[in-house]
Amino acid sequence: MEPGAASVTQMLSFEQALLEVEARLAAANFVPAIEVLPLSRAWGRILAEDVNADRDYPPFNRSTRDGFAIRSEDAGGANSVLTLAGEVRAGEYFKSEVGAGQCVAIMTGAPLPAGTDAVVMIEHTRTEGNKIEIERPVASFENVVRKGSECRAGKDILPKGRRLRAGEIGLLASVGKGNVAVYFRPRVAIIPTGDEIVPMDHKPEWYQIRNSNSAMLAAVVASAGAVPWEMGIGPDEKKALQSLIEKSLESDLLLLSGGVSMGKYDFVEDVLEDLGAEFYFRSVAIRPGKPLVFGRVQDTFFFGLPGNPVSGFVTCNLFARPAIGVLMGSRFEQPRFLRARLAKAVRHKTGLTTFMPARIETREAEPVVSLVGWQGSGDLVGVAEANGFLVVHPGQPAPEAGDWVDVMPMES
Ligand code: AMP
Ligand code: MG
Repeated sequence: MEPGAASVTQMLSFEQALLEVEARLAAANFVPAIEVLPLSRAWGRILAEDVNADRDYPPFNRSTRDGFAIRSEDAGGANSVLTLAGEVRAGEYFKSEVGAGQCVAIMTGAPLPAGTDAVVMIEHTRTEGNKIEIERPVASFENVVRKGSECRAGKDILPKGRRLRAGEIGLLASVGKGNVAVYFRPRVAIIPTGDEIVPMDHKPEWYQIRNSNSAMLAAVVASAGAVPWEMGIGPDEKKALQSLIEKSLESDLLLLSGGVSMGKYDFVEDVLEDLGAEFYFRSVAIRPGKPLVFGRVQDTFFFGLPGNPVSGFVTCNLFARPAIGVLMGSRFEQPRFLRARLAKAVRHKTGLTTFMPARIETREAEPVVSLVGWQGSGDLVGVAEANGFLVVHPGQPAPEAGDWVDVMPMES
């Protein structure tokens, strides 16, 4: 779908809404600033340079076993006997060429001596003095990783835009990138709203609720790689809410929580409108989370997330997380669905893409998913017990016990 193809008032499907977010962010052509960091601080960032291999990998024909380096043609049949010509350890190299009928004791990680092309494992040999009996035929390049087989010198090994996880960090270390160019972390403002909400370190009156959403959304933001900026609590009153939102517009993304439903005091959208916001959608056919607002005010993209903690958690992970990725230089990373067997039938109303807090267990031969006992979209006790969500699509019949179903593991 083209951005804006749907009318703002129309409820989008889950997939349409994701496409809309992706397209709007792409159209904004946001290019974050670049900084150079020591590799030890680059984990979780997005790479801002293309990285090439500085030499062949592996840089030499490397033995993967402790044993004897041989010329494979000397061990074409069983029980060949070779003469030991010396030893090569990892961190050394064998100084002369190995001739026909000779072999060299070799350790894992050592380079093959010139003249040899294979390694026979020590377990398949018998030693008598300087005579080594090879008990079985050995093929050329057995137990050897060939020079350049992982990659050739000069080859692109990591493209700009790649998220640096542990594997990428290891690869960068192996090519000697002690300092690496990465994109700046975007700043994500978080404004909780609601007259019943009090700071979490206040003792609430019996009719008040502690602000749990800010801390929770900040955790999602941080795990996505951005810097959370927890702002004060916005009241259900236009003027004060407006000045708080205006202050937040220095950020790269604004997450508003609450105040986007149909209630008499749900003013978030009015205030954004007064500030000249463009709205791309105002509701999405998902549960929890139907009243979900996405738009841009001045230069800052915003999400109006539902105030219900579980709805906020789900929509932040589904929509704000990939948006943060783009703002920090990554491609748009789709939420990942996997498959598991459903433990127990689920009653389910169709029409919405539904995300139910669940536990995904992998102790059996096949992954199994079961719902946690939860009481609806305010229930953080249930969410804390879950390690993912059962996903039921609109139009999908209520899943039965034993069905393969979609699940979404929790990322944070
Ligand atoms: P709203 O979306 O503003 O109608 O809020 C929906 C529900 O979420 C209400 O029960 C609110 O009390 C609750 N809620 C809203 N914001 C927060 C917050 N920051 N922390 C905890 N609960 C909240
Ligand atoms: Mg409210």
